[in-house]
Amino acid sequence: MRFHIITIFPEMFDSYLKESILGRAVKNKLISFKFYNPRDFIKAPKNNYKPVDDKPYGGGPGMVMRAEPILKAVEKATSKIKNKSKLKIILFSPSGKKFDTVYAKKSASKYTDIIMISGRYEGIDARVQKVLHAEEISIGDYVLTGGELPAMVLIDSISRQIPGILGKYESLEEERVSSSVVYTRPEVLKYKGQNYKVPKVLLSGNHKKIDEWKKSR
Ligand code: SAH
Repeated sequence: MRFHIITIFPEMFDSYLKESILGRAVKNKLISFKFYNPRDFIKAPKNNYKPVDDKPYGGGPGMVMRAEPILKAVEKATSKIKNKSKLKIILFSPSGKKFDTVYAKKSASKYTDIIMISGRYEGIDARVQKVLHAEEISIGDYVLTGGELPAMVLIDSISRQIPGILGKYESLEEERVSSSVVYTRPEVLKYKGQNYKVPKVLLSGNHKKIDEWKKSR
């Protein structure tokens, strides 16, 4: 899976994507990242700095990201993709379709390239979505300052659906009985005069009972 990220803040991704499971997946060439900064696609004579944003038509607070630099960045990203039938273009918006595990699974199996457009300020000129037929995706009912966290959320969640990325494929929740209640050593946690024990059933070695216990959580 190749992730192509359109953002004016590519550095925000550095530490998150370098570490742990995703970092290892990059080293193992299971996933890759390319960044395209709309700022690099602004044609302007020297000393005539053109911003990536501008005032909203019709008035209102804040600024709107201009369409052209984003469209050029996306053009650059798509120019390198051979099989366009396995390409998905996503544009982040708090009012978009809600992202979930089903969407992540489907994306991991259907696409080889995903372009993600991260907005900032008051959002992106609506014509970008229209021109690209991009799917608008929201990661939840709250408004963030930008689409960079949403991009990382999708990358993380989609990547862990790609075979070989998690340490053991079995650790995928969907492949086993999952539980959000988990324990590790010690068997008895002593904290401020109290003993906190691991539920007996988890120590029983009886996998049928353990699965039943997990399901009941
Ligand atoms: N004025 C907009 C908010 C813009 S927030 C409105 O009222 O809807 C700025 C950018 O952050 C958006 O363009 C989007 O890319 C991103 N963003 C903010 N919250 C998000 C969310 N919940 N899901 C996905 N993207 C989000």
